Amino acid sequence: MLVVMKAHASPEEIQAVCEAIEKLGLRPHPLPGAERTAIGITGNKGEVSRGNLEALSGVAEVIRVTKAYKLASRDVKEEDTLIRFPGTDATIGGRNLAVIAGPCSIESREQAFAIAEQVAASGAQFFRGGAFKPRTSPYAFQGMGLDALKIMAEIRTAFGLRIVTEALDNESLDLVNEWADVIQIGARNMQNFSLLKRAGKMRKPVIIKRGLSATLEEFLMSAEYVMSEGNYEVILCERGVRTFADHSRNTLDLSIIPAVQQVSHLPILVDPSHGTGKRDKVLPMARAGIAAGADGLLIEVHHQPDQALSDGPQSLYPDQFATMMNETELLAPIVNRKLPRGIHIDSGARA
Ligand code: PEP
Ligand code: MN
Repeated sequence: MLVVMKAHASPEEIQAVCEAIEKLGLRPHPLPGAERTAIGITGNKGEVSRGNLEALSGVAEVIRVTKAYKLASRDVKEEDTLIRFPGTDATIGGRNLAVIAGPCSIESREQAFAIAEQVAASGAQFFRGGAFKPRTSPYAFQGMGLDALKIMAEIRTAFGLRIVTEALDNESLDLVNEWADVIQIGARNMQNFSLLKRAGKMRKPVIIKRGLSATLEEFLMSAEYVMSEGNYEVILCERGVRTFADHSRNTLDLSIIPAVQQVSHLPILVDPSHGTGKRDKVLPMARAGIAAGADGLLIEVHHQPDQALSDGPQSLYPDQFATMMNETELLAPIVNRKLPRGIHIDSGARA
């Protein structure tokens, strides 16, 4: 159920509706839009009786939301979600493309700084690096943990880049929430519902990577888990699904971009690194992702990919990343986008 407020409803009227919803034992989710505020209602098992809500002051109408995902749906919020990073001009969603770049894993301070310097020089606004790694083998490098988070915090101070890193479980989620700017939930955890709920209690944007065999609805239901707990800053990321194709690590399903955009207001990024698994396929599929309407890119970059402890074969060399940025800047206006180059930090708000 969704309560649509009148265009000029006052904050007090919105508050009164939220309280009325709470009195019914349900949870209100006020979602301000450009024209009006909509209040999503969750927590109901069956249909909510709309009678008394419709009569409240400032209410335009009460609508039933038929889709399984509600808060993620355009029925509840028509305008695209725009995520801002306070103290900076960085955004995810909206007209500006977001580029998140860096190594698969943080391997050392020297490695992380060498890569960060280059991706910052090419104009990325976000730095990624795994601190907690979901590896197929328990014998493979598992990440540097908290030490990696501390290195990335230093990178934020040194270059202004906002930090994106994956949380694997409850413990790492709390640490990532403390140290990073964006919480990444990996493909393998896309349906780890308890982790999603916990991420929903955080107040940092959450990137959810598509599961290896997740349908559009399952993908959006994962976003719904986070949003249902009150965190509305969710970003989707297509990173390839598993198919019979054996020329690439995964099959990058770019057709999900317009499909998501039709039914959801959430931003969607493309990760052509995991999506292809091969360095020489990353640039063509990054171009294709932007052309298909993605809100940005997630790209693995390594200065010495032959020595990388994870995902070396799909990591771009820094000069290839620079080329990708130049091409993306040229492509962007064709799809009515813009690639911002570099992040601007308000003075006094650096860290
Ligand atoms: C990653 O971004 O390094 C990663 C492990 O991604 P995914 O969860 O998409 O495999
Ligand atoms: Mn990786």
